[in-house]
Amino acid sequence: MKLDGNLPEVIETYRINGNGKHNFHNGHADTIGDEHISGSYETPMRPDAFMMDEETKIKIIEHHFEHILDTLGMDLSDDSLSGTPHRVAKMFVKEIFYGLNPENKPRISLFENKFKYGQMLVEKSIRVTSTCEHHFLPIIGKAHVAYISGGKVIGLSKINRIVDYFARRPQVQERLTVQIAEELKKALETEDVAVVIDAKHMCVACRGIQDDNSTTLTAEYSGKFRNDKTRDEFLSYVGMNA
Ligand SMILES: [Zn+2]
Repeated sequence: MKLDGNLPEVIETYRINGNGKHNFHNGHADTIGDEHISGSYETPMRPDAFMMDEETKIKIIEHHFEHILDTLGMDLSDDSLSGTPHRVAKMFVKEIFYGLNPENKPRISLFENKFKYGQMLVEKSIRVTSTCEHHFLPIIGKAHVAYISGGKVIGLSKINRIVDYFARRPQVQERLTVQIAEELKKALETEDVAVVIDAKHMCVACRGIQDDNSTTLTAEYSGKFRNDKTRDEFLSYVGMNA
């Protein structure tokens, strides 16, 4: 699909109508580089991030991706390439970055812990499919999550959905780990939460150092999981004890 010439104007109007705050242009990009270190655990978003509807976002991204391919010298009239800008734009908004939109956050239903199960519950090897926000390449791995009920329990598949929701954003693994832990603490009304993520970064495997063997491990322990014995028990369940 070809876009009309008014598009940059649309973007400009949108920026002016928003509050003009550009969190992701605050200079971090210059200092983060390959180090993958960031500050707050919130994903840096502009307050006006969802004033624009998804269809408009797809059109604008399609327009820009067309320019990227064009700049690379690719012939967009070729059958194999002509649908790529739209396909990529739709994939960004609807699939790999759907977790940016708070409307897509999984609704959590809690149940009373009527079995009075007081031990930790471990959900291991949850699939993690994310995207490195520094290189826009995939991060693929597993999350191991545990909590000790403070009176409420959560449907097991909801834990997978929470992991997936926070993963489907441009991410850094440290932030993803903390975001999952914070969401579970809020949802389960307990501090006793542990999250470990073991993931392979395609930006490490396919470019730069080109190491396709290494994985990155991050962990967030809170409440009772800061206690050595509890943490070791969790790590032994997920097969990560020393
Ligand atoms: Zn990266």
